[in-house]
Amino acid sequence: MLLTTSPTAEGSPDMKKIHILDKDFSISITEETIQTRVRRVADKINRDYKGKSPVFVCILNGSFMFAADLVRYLDIQPAVTFARFSSYRGTETTGVVRELLGVTEDLKGKDVVIVEDIVDTGITMKALLPVIKEKGAETVEIACFLRKPGKLKVDLDIKYCAMDIPDDFIVGYGLDYDGYGRNYRDIYTVIDNK
Ligand code: 5GP
Ligand code: MG
Repeated sequence: MLLTTSPTAEGSPDMKKIHILDKDFSISITEETIQTRVRRVADKINRDYKGKSPVFVCILNGSFMFAADLVRYLDIQPAVTFARFSSYRGTETTGVVRELLGVTEDLKGKDVVIVEDIVDTGITMKALLPVIKEKGAETVEIACFLRKPGKLKVDLDIKYCAMDIPDDFIVGYGLDYDGYGRNYRDIYTVIDNK
């Protein structure tokens, strides 16, 4: 079987460990913590954009779960759209992104919030920012679910971030390992990153 789950030592049905392809992962951020943190980000956005209707540009695929929860905690009236980019990393410091699924919404004069799953080196986000900005947005801010401060290589102003995490590879809550693992409600960290 491709995907297997193993019970806890106590044999409880909770999934403390999961196995995806060739790797084992153990639970590191629970659904409860995730929801508390996402709600906190939403509260901040509610305050900052009171009376406004920002456009949330959610970056596929990884942000779909974070985006779905985030917008449901909002009490402003946002527009929600999706975009997909492929990234190529020519060098360590420059990233080039190509729009695979473009933003269909007119962003001219709008307040835009880019919704991303995780900022690791920041190279992808750094390359993506000008692509969104050149569509004529009045303001552009970043909302990311996770950030790895230890890995950040570029100067990025991230206004909204649910959690900072260590440098390890994680899956779950929209984030994948080779296409799998996006469906989990919790976040899992790789145990032995061979
Ligand atoms: P960056 O350009 O910031 O280094 O990379 C950002 C992208 O790399 C994220 O959007 C995500 O697709 C991927 N990524 C970075 N760290 C992780 C991780 O720990 N787990 C998963 N599943 N993807 C990651
Ligand atoms: Mg991503």
